[in-house]
Amino acid sequence: MSFCSSVKSELLNLRVSGCCRQAFCYGFMLFGRAFSIKRIALQTANEEVARGYANAIFQNYKIKPEIKTGGSKKPTFVAEVISEADRLKILAQYDFGMSEELIDDSIFLRDCCFASFVRGAFLSCGNINDPEKEYRLEFNVKTETIALELQALLLREGISLKSAKNGKGLKLYTKDSAVIEDLLTFMGASKHSLEIMDTKVIKSVKNSINRARNCDSANISKTVEASIRQRRAIEFLKSVDRLESLPEELLQAAKLRLENPEATLKELVRLSSEPLTISGLNHRFQKIIEIYEEMKN
Ligand SMILES: [Zn+2]
Repeated sequence: MSFCSSVKSELLNLRVSGCCRQAFCYGFMLFGRAFSIKRIALQTANEEVARGYANAIFQNYKIKPEIKTGGSKKPTFVAEVISEADRLKILAQYDFGMSEELIDDSIFLRDCCFASFVRGAFLSCGNINDPEKEYRLEFNVKTETIALELQALLLREGISLKSAKNGKGLKLYTKDSAVIEDLLTFMGASKHSLEIMDTKVIKSVKNSINRARNCDSANISKTVEASIRQRRAIEFLKSVDRLESLPEELLQAAKLRLENPEATLKELVRLSSEPLTISGLNHRFQKIIEIYEEMKN
């Protein structure tokens, strides 16, 4: 299974809560092959995605899209709402205002609903490369207006994507591993987000070893440097008896690091007795380093 299929499989197997159900389905449909009175369809090489699309529509509207298989060399799957009456029933749920090319954000009841919408959109038109080879995540959006709207909505969440012309449509993309991690976490693919973080650590350790071999130690990668800084700060606070007086959450993070000096962030998150995210843990280490730097100056 490709990395992309594996991410999509994780996204498809997440539970969709009641408030998010319509938003998820909407993202899936809007970013598919067609979403209009003439046609509501998704075309994909991924059978699981085609089934996910059909299921989402069935759960929301009790309408069963047809799934057809085609393509001789590369199999393709087309999931499609066949009857016009059914398409009308679906489209009647959305307020398009003056244009079918706008995102109806009244569907997003809460923040989680927008995240589910993005998840649906990514399943329809998204692609992610294997991080071992290249950091790249993209949405291939068929119309420019919708792409620009998605770009603006994501920016509000602090996720910044670049855009590039792609035929009639627009491609939104990023090659920044940190943005990819954020986006995967936002959509709920936390397992794969952790995997990227891990790949990054492994890559940077490999790099730093290679650089050390080349006697170029000034270039030790940022990630390795960061973990060294964490331990230096914690050890210092410990040596001046400040460790135990840290706020509970920082103390927990520090202890976790001291008990597992060689562990990656991903492993630390797993080893932690309380639920933690990588970015949350990273943030705590950041705080510890700030305290350490203040004390030193
Ligand atoms: Zn929701």
